[in-house]
Amino acid sequence: MKTTKSAWIIVALLLLISLFGCKSNDPPPVAETEPQTAWLFAMDTVMQLTAYGDNAAEGLASAQAAILELESLVSVTGENSEIFRVNSGSVAPFAVSGITAELLETALAFCARTDGAMDVSIYPIVKAWGFTTDAYRVPSDAEIAALLPLVDYTAVDYDAAARTVRIPGGAQLDLGSIAKGYSGDLAIDAIKSVGVASALISLGGNVQTLGAKPDGSAWRVAVQNPEAPEDYAGVVEVVNKAVITSGGYERYFVGDDGEVYWHIMNPATGKPAKSGLISVTIIGESGALCDAMSTPLFVMGLDAAAGHWREYGDFEAVFITENHELYITEGLEGSFSPLGNYADTNVTVIRR
Ligand code: ADP
Ligand code: MG
Repeated sequence: MKTTKSAWIIVALLLLISLFGCKSNDPPPVAETEPQTAWLFAMDTVMQLTAYGDNAAEGLASAQAAILELESLVSVTGENSEIFRVNSGSVAPFAVSGITAELLETALAFCARTDGAMDVSIYPIVKAWGFTTDAYRVPSDAEIAALLPLVDYTAVDYDAAARTVRIPGGAQLDLGSIAKGYSGDLAIDAIKSVGVASALISLGGNVQTLGAKPDGSAWRVAVQNPEAPEDYAGVVEVVNKAVITSGGYERYFVGDDGEVYWHIMNPATGKPAKSGLISVTIIGESGALCDAMSTPLFVMGLDAAAGHWREYGDFEAVFITENHELYITEGLEGSFSPLGNYADTNVTVIRR
């Protein structure tokens, strides 16, 4: 059994750096602004934050503080986190902070919107497979069947007025599908609040941007090749948007049976989601929305994901299938280009 997550994160960062570094044809910036960069390890991944212009260092410092605070509140493994205490069941109903409350409320709305393809009560299943603890194993069908009744976001009793949470005995919450994107929103807000107009943060390969590049051009953000994550499948040009991917390659292990088991679970089966998709990238204004949507759309598969996009229309998406097919939603026409092994792949545009 093996995992290659950290290696891919480093490769993804190098890819990003090399993409942003391709400046030979760019005009020189009008006003020379030295970027400030901060690195941190949080939420089990390497994060790189870059901001340009006056007050950039101050903005990065408060962005880092915001990410670390959120992690301390919602980590499933940190014994002092609010989610850990909710999951331990020792205090019920449990009063949560305003930040945790907002994240949980947002997350529950996305669970409902995706009809449970995203389910924040998935943790007993995630734990049984050894994800988050790195003790990977394939649970038996009987073990999964015994845990599945605990997976039901509709049984999470969240009282918005009192800001309290109560979950059924044995149930456990996991905000891992949305927390990183939400932390990116907090980080971008912190950077913006000191007057910075241009920034890019990469939270383990999930990219969120503030404004445009300092020279006014769009950011070019790589989408990793899920079959060879050291390479790209494409690049998308964005201004003031998040570009967030859920991929089977991001965290997985190979079982003794030779099968690949990844960390994106189908809440209906309690097993890794095998929908035909191997990578889903969501592009939109809110990091929380993009992160939240990438996971259930991966679970749903291409047709249902396209239907969800048509119904809600508040994001754009790049889908890559196990058959090496590339699909984009129509809002990305003109801003997405396939690259590398996908350069000659036909890009199918999903229309309304
Ligand atoms: P990453 O965290 O690698 O960027 P995702 O945003 O797709 O990837 O989140 C995956 C994490 O979300 C898993 O590690 C697990 O903790 C949790 N998770 C897995 N499947 C689901 C699901 N169907 N609904 C909600 N959370 C999930
Ligand atoms: Mg996600």
